[in-house]
Amino acid sequence: MTDDLKTILVVDDTPENITLLSNLLKGLYRIKAALNGPKALEIASSHPTPELILLDIMMPEMDGFEVCRRLKADDATKDIPVIFLSAKSETESKVEAFDVGGVDYITKPFEQREVLARIETHLRLRCLQIKLQEQACQLERSNQDLEQFAYAISHDLQEPLRMVNSYLKLLENRFGENIDMTAKEFMDFAVDGSARMQSMIKDLLEYSRVGTRAAELEPTDAEEACETALANLHVAIADSGAEVETGALPVVEADPSQLARLFQNLVGNAIKYRDANRAPRVRVSAEEDEGTWTFSIEDNGIGIEPEYSERIFAIFQRLHQRDEYSGTGVGLAVCKRIVERHGGRIWVDSTPGEGSIFRFTLPVVLPAETSA
Ligand code: ADP
Repeated sequence: MTDDLKTILVVDDTPENITLLSNLLKGLYRIKAALNGPKALEIASSHPTPELILLDIMMPEMDGFEVCRRLKADDATKDIPVIFLSAKSETESKVEAFDVGGVDYITKPFEQREVLARIETHLRLRCLQIKLQEQACQLERSNQDLEQFAYAISHDLQEPLRMVNSYLKLLENRFGENIDMTAKEFMDFAVDGSARMQSMIKDLLEYSRVGTRAAELEPTDAEEACETALANLHVAIADSGAEVETGALPVVEADPSQLARLFQNLVGNAIKYRDANRAPRVRVSAEEDEGTWTFSIEDNGIGIEPEYSERIFAIFQRLHQRDEYSGTGVGLAVCKRIVERHGGRIWVDSTPGEGSIFRFTLPVVLPAETSA
């Protein structure tokens, strides 16, 4: 039975108080006791670690606040909930109790049922917190596994696909003259299908690399990243006659090549999904508000119906046939992963037939004047 009991450390320089609390908690919890701060710190960091600490404030040598500060500064003890017990009832000391990391404050002389209720509540909260942390770790692990899986699949599929492709080409070269129209048509479908699969796999690989090949975030000039993107898009810009205008962009904490890829996908789409009836115009800008940069990529293209504004950010989701617009539906999913990895979010505001504004946020990390 005793093994299931949670351990509570009672710290008080008055032995009678320790006896009083021990009698109250006896049978419900395993009790450890300390008559001073240094002893409390020693017990708190030794096994088994207490699940909760009841801590007196007024003690000679080291007061409760200092004990708590030291507990919170140590990785081994920082998560143990501390409830202060004190005769002091002034607001000042209550505030300090929370400031130094206490979770609760009980004024002496205490009501026994209140002490039990508060202990029970904080132990339950701590349990939930541990569960949540474990679930977050598990989620993180399974995300990493999934990422590795997507990477391995897309990487390993490339080789057999290359083989299919080259044998199809060989067949075409060697026997193309001798096969009838139907066989030729079938072969064209096969070539087309495998080319499509190849670009989907290539994009899937790029998608999984956002996590697996990520570089450290560093101060990055968004203006330079955007210039790189525009240079990579120069053929599409020239062919479409698009007018791309770039406003002043800030320095942000980012992975430079991912930031450039983000601009490239968004500006690339702004040009690709242009309206045939007007010359494409794209405007890239950024605005700061309360610690957040909001970047906008605005176009005068075909626009997006509001009901699709979430779906387009999912992988392989497209709103058009291949013969209308080329693509695999991975570009915006890559953008979403990049933005989320940088602590931001991405969304679109659009009016069908008039144009779209894709926006993404990034935290402000440097004084605003460096961005001018
Ligand atoms: P892809 O361009 O390969 O289809 P994306 O993930 O980049 O994949 O885009 C998903 C879909 O979102 C596109 O198929 C298109 O329908 C829509 N879309 C993206 N950008 C724009 C834009 N600027 N204007 C209109 N539609 C867009």
